[in-house]
Amino acid sequence: MKEYVTEIISVGTELLLGHVTNTDARDVSEMLSKIGINVLYHTVVGDNPARIENCVKIARDRADIIITTGGLGPTCDDITKEILAKTFGLELVRNEKEHEGLYDYIRIGRKFTDNNFSQAMLPEGCTVFHNNCGTAPGCAFEKDGKIVLMLPGPPKECRAMLRDSALPYLRKLSGTQIVSHTVNVFGIGESTVDDMFAEEMNAMANPSMAPYAKECDCFVKLTAKAESHEAAEEMLLPLVEKVKARIGEYAYGVDVENLEERVLELLKEKPMSFATAESCTGGQIAKRFTELPGASAFFKGGMVTYTNEAKAKLLGIDPELIEREGAVSPAVAKEMAERCRKILDTDIAVSVTGLAGPDGDGVNPVGTVFVAMAIEGATWVRHLKLGEHRSRSYVRQMSGNHAYDMIRRYLTGLDIMMK
Ligand code: ATP
Repeated sequence: MKEYVTEIISVGTELLLGHVTNTDARDVSEMLSKIGINVLYHTVVGDNPARIENCVKIARDRADIIITTGGLGPTCDDITKEILAKTFGLELVRNEKEHEGLYDYIRIGRKFTDNNFSQAMLPEGCTVFHNNCGTAPGCAFEKDGKIVLMLPGPPKECRAMLRDSALPYLRKLSGTQIVSHTVNVFGIGESTVDDMFAEEMNAMANPSMAPYAKECDCFVKLTAKAESHEAAEEMLLPLVEKVKARIGEYAYGVDVENLEERVLELLKEKPMSFATAESCTGGQIAKRFTELPGASAFFKGGMVTYTNEAKAKLLGIDPELIEREGAVSPAVAKEMAERCRKILDTDIAVSVTGLAGPDGDGVNPVGTVFVAMAIEGATWVRHLKLGEHRSRSYVRQMSGNHAYDMIRRYLTGLDIMMK
């Protein structure tokens, strides 16, 4: 099976000026990686014929697949098609169907000038990608052993054409089905995972596996290529099981986005309810969960008790206890979780109190966080030391991950306190 070297060339001066972020390149890369095509180069070039031509020539020398984004529209700086056709020695010819389609556009009353019809001029012999969200069609052709695809610039149009036309086109080319699964991991880093599987990973070609880091957790991606989807799935199944078993309690899910999504799956199985009492995370744990469709059946509510006063007033914690132990303490975390559970009458409650920085409290260093989980008759408190150099966003995200990890462990019968 051929491994294609792929390059994306994003055309647009606005990208070079920093006015627009190159989300098209990200989207194309992301979607291609899902079908097992690795993008090795991203190039950005302005709307300048000579420079675009130069980039296309460089890409032609080093890549098998060239995908351009942008510059397909009707204005004079939309020159991608002309340059690509010229570089590959192809003529632009009028595509009657797209030309007719542009007339339809006028008939429904849209304003149109003559240069709009240039959009129906496409490289001879190409496969046309109709634009379902706009007027500029994209296309693909093969020439001199290279595969060239052109996609429109507006992100909505680019994503839709990629999904509806470009990916099916590329899948057909390779004649293989590529299936991936991820094993999601929390509590050990991707370098530890890498160490665990280093030998096998080096020896593996198909299926293959690779660990990836996210900000506060990581995942292992397992990919198989086969003649059919079913055959690829069959190759992956034992590997997914093996990786899960080796990673053990730190493997929190398969093909989930994050810990809260896994917790929602588990809560559905029980079913059980939960609530949150948050200090340094400022409501983020509740927000993360309520972003998931279906959350309302399990999440009863959350309290953001940022100040000592709020902890006393909303949760009824004794101000003397806060004074004595400190707001950032295991005792206060425990009280927050237990009282929250009682007030909101849930099966589970989690709480967080800590120092997200940049200032400490004179006692604990920044990055000190206590995360508690209470159920009927038992409460656990994790003491996190996340490091003084960490950003506020990291401390908050990681604290939330620990809260969800505690719930996940409880719901799957694992030891709540991480080793
Ligand atoms: P149009 O028919 O709208 O002219 P086009 O294919 O010619 O489409 P461009 O003219 O290059 O595309 O870009 C249209 C708009 O799409 C730009 O103003 C920009 O906002 C957005 N855009 C272009 N390229 C990218 C990119 N790589 N990433 C994100 N947005 C982009």
